[in-house]
Amino acid sequence: MRIVSPFLKRVVYPALSAAGVFPRASASGLAVVTYHGVLPQGYESEDAALDGNLVGAETLRRQLRLLKTQYNVVSPDEVLSWREGRGELPPRAVLLTCDDGLLNCLTDMLPVLQQEETQCLFFVTGASTENARATLWYEDLLRLFLRAPAGRFEIAGAGITISDELASREQRGRVWWKSVKRLSQVDGETRASFLGAARNHLGLSTWQPVDAENSAVCRRFGLLTCPELHELEAAGMTIGAHTLSHPMLSQAPAGLSRTEIAECRSKLESKLQNRVWAFAYPFGDAQSITPQVMAMAKDACYSASFLNYGGGLGTALPPYAMPRLHVTSEMNLAEFEAHVSGFHMWLQRRTGRA
Ligand SMILES: [Zn+2]
Repeated sequence: MRIVSPFLKRVVYPALSAAGVFPRASASGLAVVTYHGVLPQGYESEDAALDGNLVGAETLRRQLRLLKTQYNVVSPDEVLSWREGRGELPPRAVLLTCDDGLLNCLTDMLPVLQQEETQCLFFVTGASTENARATLWYEDLLRLFLRAPAGRFEIAGAGITISDELASREQRGRVWWKSVKRLSQVDGETRASFLGAARNHLGLSTWQPVDAENSAVCRRFGLLTCPELHELEAAGMTIGAHTLSHPMLSQAPAGLSRTEIAECRSKLESKLQNRVWAFAYPFGDAQSITPQVMAMAKDACYSASFLNYGGGLGTALPPYAMPRLHVTSEMNLAEFEAHVSGFHMWLQRRTGRA
């Protein structure tokens, strides 16, 4: 559960952080932190919830400096060695990861990582093995639903029909999430043609997810192309797999999930210089992952696969259900530290909330 009471967030955690309690109280093990990129300079947020997974460059810098002084930021290679029984991790080890492979990983996040001399494991989709600029289908879909006129709609395309009603922001979010589940049942190509139909049915046929190449909007929503992925790797970063097309795997037929998990690895390895050993489940929340899906990640010969919840020092670390700490833009520095140190999880367990 990531909801933190305002009292903990604004009073208790800052006081404990200032007193230096967190590193002293932290458990052993490994905390894995999940980012989703850095908000590009000049980008004007379209929607707080849509952009809430990305952090500002200065927020990232402050978090890295805190980790470097109080914890031990380890490289993806060190985690692989530990996972495969070839090495030990230092106490209070923290691994940085970042999901989806948005262009801002290269343009806005990498400079901060390099200035702070840290390494990160970037989980990217099959889209980043191509030369053409792509975007995330589920972000496109939400942006369409947020722009479409209020009222009833019916979208029919690629053998899929979705009908509902668009009204408040909250209700549009619910329609979107329901649609994400439905569209996760089909492959990426079918989904893309449904999205084409959705633009027409919603009266947004001329809308484009990105405007000009390398604009702030492009850096926010565009995905890394293959040459840009090479740049990220050449800069010393590690690349992991995040499926071919980012479906919610719990909703997809077994055969499709297996292909999404295994072929992302083979496609990435055919383009990159290194072995792809890590996998992150798309969306990564409890309802997106099943025991069958975890078994598929193991069958696809990854050495570790990562959830997107439950992280912090002191947590159990099953190889195909590695917990991670999902960083959001509204998390303050003390709250971030409370999560990394494992204190937040400990408190939740003590109070019966986890
Ligand atoms: Zn993702």
